Amino acid sequence: MTTNAQEFARARGAMPGGVNSPVRAFGSVHETPRFFVSASGPYVTDVEGREYVDLVGSWGPAILGHAHPAVVKAVQDAAAHGLGFGASTPGETELAELIAGRVARDGVTAPVERVRLVSTGTEATMTAIRLARGATGRDLIVKFAGHYHGHSDGLLAEAGSGVATLAMPGSAGVPAPIAAQTLVIRYNDLDAVREVFAARGDDIAAVIVEAAPANMGIVPPAHGFNAALADIAHAHGALLILDEVLTGFRVGPAGWYGIDPVPFSPDLITFGKVVGGGLPLAALGGSAALMELLAPLGPVYQAGTLSGNPLAVAAGRATLDHLDADAYARIDAAATTIADAAASALSEAGVTHVVQRSGNLFSIQFADTPPVDYDTVKAQEAFRYAPFFRAMLAQGVSLPPSVFEAWFVSSAHDDAAVARIVAALPAAARAAGEARPD
Ligand SMILES: *Cc1c(COP(=O)(O)O)cnc(C)c1O
Repeated sequence: MTTNAQEFARARGAMPGGVNSPVRAFGSVHETPRFFVSASGPYVTDVEGREYVDLVGSWGPAILGHAHPAVVKAVQDAAAHGLGFGASTPGETELAELIAGRVARDGVTAPVERVRLVSTGTEATMTAIRLARGATGRDLIVKFAGHYHGHSDGLLAEAGSGVATLAMPGSAGVPAPIAAQTLVIRYNDLDAVREVFAARGDDIAAVIVEAAPANMGIVPPAHGFNAALADIAHAHGALLILDEVLTGFRVGPAGWYGIDPVPFSPDLITFGKVVGGGLPLAALGGSAALMELLAPLGPVYQAGTLSGNPLAVAAGRATLDHLDADAYARIDAAATTIADAAASALSEAGVTHVVQRSGNLFSIQFADTPPVDYDTVKAQEAFRYAPFFRAMLAQGVSLPPSVFEAWFVSSAHDDAAVARIVAALPAAARAAGEARPD
């Protein structure tokens, strides 16, 4: 048997930082990353044989719990028939129809008539932006500080969790002329939106927004914010790209779009995480008129060797098939119990905090008033998170290794799993209370 420390040392000799995605290095929580060997339901097990209740959920996809039997069986059946053909399969059409059918609201035109399947959320948003530029003949993109839309060049400016955790302003290697095509403004600030459109409206192709931001911790949209955003963009001939890579099919059957208190009309919606059921799959969707500007019908090129891979499609379909009203009710109930328990443990320990929620997504923030944008998020006492995280880990609870991430609950978080989390919270809250700035 090896240890996590041995595995990490070896990994650092083979991969930059020992990881394939920066947040996994546990840098901001000053802890050795756990190397996992298996997972089942709400639990993950590391190379040392320790089991943890998991609140990362593969960053969202494990919404039915890890290795859900129906999802595993669907993938095994698909694998037995061939790992991929680089050609069309009936399953892709069925998944596209499932996605389009779910994203609907009473009394509003369904925003998704056509879907393209890709492999990562980064690809989905990158393609949505190219499509918006192709459709409008304009170059500029508006994004919000603290929102994460994947790691493509134009979208890394002030991009939330990953870069915030590393305290990086953006990324080296992005050419200035490309960065200059992205206008970054303050979130939840409609005056900032009106100003940027007043100044550059004729050149703006699209505004891209996280449907309910979850990559700077949870910062819910102000009431009617998405609807006002759609109106302003449309008044200037620009598109609204609603990024539901994280929230899609997680916060409800139709994602955040389905539960936003004020209905609105996004032009393109991006999906990822849950839609692939744990395998690499993401998607974008919109009206037929817009989506058919994509090749082969239209002039906007996009392609992918592994796009619509049959194993990923099978995992996505099986996951969506099992995400019924009962599953969402279980997730919502467990999320409420855990969020409430975290808040009372922190209050009990005298730690200044807020717990913000967007549907069943939540995170704790060490601030006295709820952060509403990236500046107020960054102003919190973030140093309290590392000891909080380590105390939870020591008691067998695996939290996201950054204060700028959401906690992901699954439908497999039963009473026993929730009880283990709740029991671990008081000691973690005390550790947060005793924390001093780094
Ligand atoms: C995770 C995420 C992405 C990027 O998806 P990847 O599959 O990691 O490339 C894009 N947008 C949002 C809102 C995300 O949470």
